[in-house]
Amino acid sequence: MTSRHLPSHPEPALVDGLGRHIDYLRLSVTDRCDFRCIYCMADDMTFMPRQALLSADELYRTAALFVRAGIRKIRLTGGEPLIRPDIVTLCQRISALPGLHELVLTSNGSQLEQLASPLAAAGVSRINVSLDSLQPERFRQLTRHGRLERVLAGLDAARHAGFAGIKLNTVLMAGRNDDEIVPLVRYAITQGFDISFIEEMPLGEVGRARGENFMASADIRRQLERHFRLEDSDHRSGGPARYVRLSDHPGTRVGFISPHSQNFCGSCNRLRMTADGRLLLCLGHEQGLDMRALLREHPQDDQPLLHALHTALQSKPARHEFETDQVQLVRFMNVTGG
Ligand code: SAM
Ligand code: SF4
Repeated sequence: MTSRHLPSHPEPALVDGLGRHIDYLRLSVTDRCDFRCIYCMADDMTFMPRQALLSADELYRTAALFVRAGIRKIRLTGGEPLIRPDIVTLCQRISALPGLHELVLTSNGSQLEQLASPLAAAGVSRINVSLDSLQPERFRQLTRHGRLERVLAGLDAARHAGFAGIKLNTVLMAGRNDDEIVPLVRYAITQGFDISFIEEMPLGEVGRARGENFMASADIRRQLERHFRLEDSDHRSGGPARYVRLSDHPGTRVGFISPHSQNFCGSCNRLRMTADGRLLLCLGHEQGLDMRALLREHPQDDQPLLHALHTALQSKPARHEFETDQVQLVRFMNVTGG
């Protein structure tokens, strides 16, 4: 029997100082990546020292602790989670936690051809795969190192691996890939995937002015309306995306993640943990809790960690305050865990 079939754990739910129920943890398992996407990383990144990163046992203990505290959905992310050699075993261990409803994962797809089936067998129920272009040369430019054919092969393997859902994530940038909105949606339709379009967020100095390429979700939607009949949907995936359905293609949902144009903080149910064990209360604030220090100071006793978690939650910020072209946080997205 997997964890999904066990009754919920009786520990009290996690509630923040504003009464928001927190049941979703995004856990970054590495800050490293084989790509250098232009909106996520600088060309010459300095990564965290290896000993700063949480070990597999520390990640597992963190997951277990949060599930005990009331977390019901965990997303493994990064950096690129699939470049961790122990990722499949880690997924097996976390997905078996009693009380966890769903283990999901976000990946750039570069290793998915080999790993899709083992991950599905390890209890990962759904995956999100980033895909910003269907043109090989442009894909290479946007990711600086990525090979489109490997990601497409990975997506093909994922389609056969038995996941309950596969979603593409596309960061749209005016003048860079906004001519691919319709081709990307058509690709999602033919494969039976969902797709979400994400507004670029100003995290980290990546060497270009972000405002230049900013594209609002409403403009994407307008473009789609010229080609498809859209119906609003009240579907929520537990994350910040708002969805529409395509009336003529019921197998595909199109999501919009709009941190700028449609603030989603009022219903925020999420916490993030960086790969070095910093619990971030909000994507747009530095405020957090050094869980790694607590994990290492109290190797046998979870009580101080649970106490610190409940206390920290009381100061979860009401909202992020991103502007489109200003870098407000030095933290990069690969550190934050997207
Ligand atoms: N490497 C994996 C991937 O690319 O899917 C997981 C980590 S990545 C940081 C998670 C998501 O964050 C990706 O969908 C990526 O497109 C998105 N992302 C990265 N930097 C971003 C930014 N500055 N603004 C908006 N989305 C961003
Ligand atoms: Fe790597 Fe994902 Fe960031 Fe691209 S978005 S550089 S794939 S972590």
